[in-house]
Amino acid sequence: MNILPEKYCNFDCVFCPIGRSAHKPDDTVEFEPVTSALQNLKEQIRRENPNLVFINSKGEVLIHNQITDIIGCIHQEEKPVRLLSNGYLLGREKFGAIANLCEEIVAEIKTVRDQDFKKLQRPVFGYCLEEYVENLVSFRQQYQGKFLFEITIVKKYNDDPQSIQWLMDTAARINPDRLMIVELDGEKVRKTLGVGEERLEEIRRQFSKQSFRVVF
Ligand code: SF4
Repeated sequence: MNILPEKYCNFDCVFCPIGRSAHKPDDTVEFEPVTSALQNLKEQIRRENPNLVFINSKGEVLIHNQITDIIGCIHQEEKPVRLLSNGYLLGREKFGAIANLCEEIVAEIKTVRDQDFKKLQRPVFGYCLEEYVENLVSFRQQYQGKFLFEITIVKKYNDDPQSIQWLMDTAARINPDRLMIVELDGEKVRKTLGVGEERLEEIRRQFSKQSFRVVF
């Protein structure tokens, strides 16, 4: 489910399926009260009785000022929460504490060099790849829930053997419960930045050999 009225993300990825980031917050943003939306959410959960509720919003959902109320509402209905984040903010105490409320966190990485991180993902000024990885590692070390980690293979940026090794070393440090090795979303972007199913399979096999639990 999406809880952001429009895109709010601390990154502005060139390949973002949602489009450009008009709002690029690095901290909590105040939104309209969600009180009536919570009532609708409760009713929907009762109607559909899902196994879990996946909060997968238009951007970085951790910046929503009422995200804890939304998670609490889902928990009141006795459903676990899976939350998708690009992961950069997870290293900060305030945002890590919010993520700790969720039963599952999905985080990701798409680049292996700082200059590519800045070029392709255009994060908030001052962000760097090294801090990104350290934020993921420090969050993971204390997180008690299920940590799902998604690695996106981008042609010519991280599909060479050296980059794959870096990704394997980084994944080993993060030690996810499950690893997903994927390509970018969208047919158009895959034409230029996709590696193809065959190469993707080969990379997945490499990760599986290193004892990662790779899922698709
Ligand atoms: S992190 Fe995700 S939502 Fe944010 S700009 Fe990149 S692709 Fe879009």
